[in-house]
Amino acid sequence: MKQSVKLVAGNWKMNGLGESLAEAETLAKALKEQAAACRVALCPPATLIARMAQTLKGGVVEIGGQDCHAKASGAYTGSVSAGMVRDAGAGLVILGHSERRAGFGETDADVAAKVEAALAAGLEPIICIGETLQEREAGQAVEVVSRQVAGSLPVSLAGKAFAVAYEPVWAIGTGLTPTLEQIEEVHAAVRAAMIARLGEGGRAAPILYGGSVKPSNAAEILAVAEVGGALVGGASLKAEDFLGIIRAV
Ligand code: PEP
Repeated sequence: MKQSVKLVAGNWKMNGLGESLAEAETLAKALKEQAAACRVALCPPATLIARMAQTLKGGVVEIGGQDCHAKASGAYTGSVSAGMVRDAGAGLVILGHSERRAGFGETDADVAAKVEAALAAGLEPIICIGETLQEREAGQAVEVVSRQVAGSLPVSLAGKAFAVAYEPVWAIGTGLTPTLEQIEEVHAAVRAAMIARLGEGGRAAPILYGGSVKPSNAAEILAVAEVGGALVGGASLKAEDFLGIIRAV
């Protein structure tokens, strides 16, 4: 099947102050000079979006947010709307990351509402799904991600630019990764669930893999059928590691 160009996105999470900001800026500047065979995006904390947009101006590296509110404006103290993320300089936004699902109680319905807000603001959502270790051990990985796709992807996504990121919760930040066969099995199931939900509109969007991607495993993971890119956490804060992953595409 013809797939869209691969997307490698770095999720800086709540990092980017002091030494980690200096390292992140070194990475951003190096990326600007680096030719890549894929789309590359950096997703800094909201406070750094405008700064990174300035640093990366004129290059091909894209900027993403890590979350947005489902409402366009109003009395939501502490929140940032999709329009604000866009206005700060982002073109993409990560939604439904497992750290938000677990730490902030975000449900599939919450994620779907945020996706609608992102689309209305002209942002390309990267919608995260993935099973916990307990679900994996119970043999429920495919069932869980299929349910998350059905619940987190609004039908309005059909025909729009977006990505889904399969991130097994137990692989995030742990150094553990599923086998290549397990990745292939889940990505195939995610694609089937996307088509069931969006019809033909669910065929083209890339399905990223996320969870302990590093230079040494990136090439083999990115070569798996239906892996349309990577969502990278820890390794996206170190210039050498993130550049190594991009070179592996
Ligand atoms: C993530 O948090 O999206 C992630 C993939 O983290 P890591 O690469 O550090 O496992």
